[in-house]
Amino acid sequence: MAARLGGKTILITGASSGIGRSIAIEFSRTSPDIKLILAARREETLKELAQSIKAESGGQTKVLPVRLDVSSPSNVNGFINRLPEDWRDIDVLVNNAGLVKGVDKVGEIAEEDINIMMSTNVTGLINMTQKILPIFHARGGRGDVINVGSVAGREPYAGGSIYCASKAAVRSFTESLRRELIATRIRVIEVDPGQVETEFSLVRFGGDKSKADAIYAGCEPLTPEDIAEIVVFAAGRRENVVLADTLVYPSHQA
Ligand code: NDP
Repeated sequence: MAARLGGKTILITGASSGIGRSIAIEFSRTSPDIKLILAARREETLKELAQSIKAESGGQTKVLPVRLDVSSPSNVNGFINRLPEDWRDIDVLVNNAGLVKGVDKVGEIAEEDINIMMSTNVTGLINMTQKILPIFHARGGRGDVINVGSVAGREPYAGGSIYCASKAAVRSFTESLRRELIATRIRVIEVDPGQVETEFSLVRFGGDKSKADAIYAGCEPLTPEDIAEIVVFAAGRRENVVLADTLVYPSHQA
């Protein structure tokens, strides 16, 4: 697997915490000879992660932390051109940035929360993909788009209408794109986690730790590393092998 990943440039959105952070670490541990672009809004956190990955890999992994707000079309538009030239030949895009805000009945949900979920989880992911595809086509139709969806995109729940709808949109977009690119060697991959313990719930409850912790009480959620292993495994398959659609539950989750 390391040989297939070696030398590649991998862009991970939402790399500052949780699943995205673990994906970055796992790529470097699996194949230290790679280049990682770590993107999110918290630049200082990304810088710290970059230092730690470089140190752990003994300097073998090259890491570039870059501020990116996927919910801002203007920020996404200039993103590739803001990268140093020798970082633009991206081989793998991991569209992981995403969030949930509030858990409310449809009639009560704030317009601002609707907009942030849709512009981050859906439009942001689509815009990032659009910026990457020309790079893959210029390489003769090679590269990976790996989208982090959610079980929520398959199994909607009461109180999660917007988040569930956003992840269902990711799912449809991913599958349409996979079919559109079927004549190429561009792989389009979706990994849908069940419950994973990260800052996700903290964001959902606006930083209220007691509410966030209550989500994980009495169960054993997945760890971010569990999902990272699957993402890196998918990217490390032989070019003809597409792990198109993977749903990952913790064993307690129905
Ligand atoms: P975290 O809150 O730990 O991580 C979310 C990441 O997304 C952070 O790095 C955050 O960085 C980034 N992010 C949020 N908004 C933006 C934005 N506008 N632009 C760029 N980056 C952004 O949660 P998880 O690691 O759990 O979530 C990662 C993905 O996994 C999400 O897509 C989520 O929907 C999905 N998921 C999570 C599950 C769970 O139970 N935890 C279950 C199923 C799916 P920053 O704040 O620095 O911008």
